[in-house]
Amino acid sequence: MPMDKMDLWKKALSLRKELGEDTTSPIDIFALAYTIEKLSIVYYPMGNNISGVCIRGTGNNVVAINSTMTLGRQHFSMAHELYHLYFDDDESTAVCAKTIGVGSEREKQADQFASYLLMPPDALSDVIKRLKKSGSSKLSLNDVVRLEQYFSISRQAILYRLIGENELTMQEADSMRKNVIRSAVRLGYDDTLYRSTPKDK
Ligand SMILES: [Zn+2]
Repeated sequence: MPMDKMDLWKKALSLRKELGEDTTSPIDIFALAYTIEKLSIVYYPMGNNISGVCIRGTGNNVVAINSTMTLGRQHFSMAHELYHLYFDDDESTAVCAKTIGVGSEREKQADQFASYLLMPPDALSDVIKRLKKSGSSKLSLNDVVRLEQYFSISRQAILYRLIGENELTMQEADSMRKNVIRSAVRLGYDDTLYRSTPKDK
C-alpha cells in the first residue's frame, strides 16, 4: 500500500476504534455517526451534484447528507464527511461533489478514507478471496453485487474501490454501472440500498 493510502487507512482504523468498532466488520455508519458528540446530522435533498456538506463550528458541528441519493451512496457520503470532521486540516466548510474520486486532493483523500472506513482492506480481500474460490479468478457482476450488499455501499463506491485495488479494469467496471437494481434483485436482494430514503423518514 502506498504511503498516502496507508496513512488514510490508519486514520480510518483509529476512527473505527474510537467509535468502538473492530478492524474488519461491516459497520452501520449512520448509527455510529449518531453516537458522535457535538454533531448534528441532517438529511436533506440537495439536488444532483452535491453528496454532502460538513460544517465545523466552535460549539457544534453539522453534517448534511443529500437524501435524494441512494442509501448506499448516503452511507459513503457519511463516511466521507467524517473525514472532514476528524482529519481535514482545512477547517472551512466542505461541500462535497457527487462523483467519487475526483476534485481537490482534500476530496480525493476523503473518498479514499470513506472507502477504507467502510471496507477495511483485510475484510475486502477476504471476501474477494471467498468469492473467487467459487468461480473464476476475475470478479463477476454477481460478485460485485455481493460485495456492495455486504458492505452496504453504492455500486459507484464499490467499483471505485475495485478499480483502485486492480480487481477490475475501468472497462469492466463501466460495464457494471447500468441496471444496478436489476442485477441485485435478480440475486434475491431487495432494492433498499439502491433507493433514496423515503420522504417521511
Ligand atoms: Zn468532501
